[in-house]
Amino acid sequence: MGRRIVILGAGFGGLTTALELERAISRVAGVDILVLDARNFHLFSPMLHEVTSGSVEPRHVVWPIRGLGRKTRFTFERRQVRAISLDRKNVTTDRDEIGYDYLVIALGGTTNYYGVQGAAERTFAFKSLPDAVRLRNHILEMFEQAVDEKDPARRRRLLTFVLVGAGCTGVELATELHELARRTLVRHYPRLDAGKVRIVLAEATGRIIPCVSERLAGLGLEKLRGKGIEVRLHSPVVGAGPGFVEFHSGEALATETVIWTAGVKANPVVEALPVEKDKLGRVLVNEHLEIPPFPGVFAIGDATHCWDPRLQDALPPTGQVAVQQARSVAHNIARDLRGQAKEPFTYRHRGDLVSLGVGDGVGEIAGLAFSGLPAWLLWRSVFLAKLVGWKNRIRVALDWLVGAFFERDVAKLEW
Ligand SMILES: Cc1cc2nc3c(=O)[nH]c(=O)nc-3n(C[C@H](O)[C@H](O)[C@H](O)COP(=O)(O)OP(=O)(O)OC[C@H]3O[C@@H](n4cnc5c(N)ncnc54)[C@H](O)[C@@H]3O)c2cc1C
Repeated sequence: MGRRIVILGAGFGGLTTALELERAISRVAGVDILVLDARNFHLFSPMLHEVTSGSVEPRHVVWPIRGLGRKTRFTFERRQVRAISLDRKNVTTDRDEIGYDYLVIALGGTTNYYGVQGAAERTFAFKSLPDAVRLRNHILEMFEQAVDEKDPARRRRLLTFVLVGAGCTGVELATELHELARRTLVRHYPRLDAGKVRIVLAEATGRIIPCVSERLAGLGLEKLRGKGIEVRLHSPVVGAGPGFVEFHSGEALATETVIWTAGVKANPVVEALPVEKDKLGRVLVNEHLEIPPFPGVFAIGDATHCWDPRLQDALPPTGQVAVQQARSVAHNIARDLRGQAKEPFTYRHRGDLVSLGVGDGVGEIAGLAFSGLPAWLLWRSVFLAKLVGWKNRIRVALDWLVGAFFERDVAKLEW
């Protein structure tokens, strides 16, 4: 009887596992690869902030998974995964139960609100495509309301945009919002004073973008402040409510827009597994990325706590980590199918790049530091190359080209 490899999630980890497995087991007969995901497309999240600012069209950062599966050996089924039974070796979905011989859990994570009061209900999450489009529409709506607003206090509140968390996502989004609000929108609303638009980036710790060195983070901080973005370090947010956000200091800042870019925790399906997990609900894995004591059950990406001896910490929740783990898992499943011993996973950090708006950035690649225009050009080249599919690469490149000559679109599209 044939064997079945089930991959849960078609994000960075799941999709890479499926594509790598194709290659790795091309000569092994009698093996089915089944990919399950609640949505029928793969999302390229590193460009989400550009969707919000209008530099890139939403459709251009997603790729239909069925389009890939048609040309390859894996089958895709759109399913919401509800639970995994490791003892019975099956997965419960919204439609059926699916058995497996090998399981790869790549369900990603969800937003971590750290129990902050009102955060889940009152702030904008920034993880999915609808999140990015919803936020864009909201920002445009704030400008529409502000231009007619007679009360100066309410107008200030409408034009104050607060981001919580100055990691890569928070910083990149803050700079894109700055471009959209302070460079484009104010020209369309000449009655509004550009100086009254506030972008506040609140960070609980004493530094921004922990993925890069202290020196580059310091340079990034200077650049953000130079653009007029108010970066508040050591400023944990402790609450959010109607029309305000509250800081640990006791200050309540009046705003209609709080964007939560502060953290990730495990997917609820992963969190519910009866195995060892960390405080974020991510499963602990062994050197082969298997969940002990279940050989053949792998977990990768944001769903996983994977100890890194070099960092002396768990690997961060990044696409880069998920992709390398996916390659290792595909390789080890192929070895196992051939009766060979599995090999341990080793993470090799390639570097990090952070875009700071048009023509600016900071980053490190292969130990070399970059900033300004070279960092930004590298950011664009690297992420363009990583997008799935030539069609999307061309479409995003054209979006950028058009953006270099014409201003961003400010239409608020709602259906
Ligand atoms: C705005 C943003 C910007 C980012 N920028 C970068 C960057 O510049 N560089 C970088 O390296 N990383 C970046 N990341 C992080 C990166 O996107 C994640 O680390 C990476 O996607 C993790 O891969 P994954 O496979 O674990 O999960 P994901 O890519 O999130 O994939 C999980 C998949 O599981 C599916 N799924 C979830 N739950 C269910 C369910 N119950 N049933 C069925 N399907 C389900 C989802 O639909 C999704 O397709 C960014 C993340 C965000 C949100």
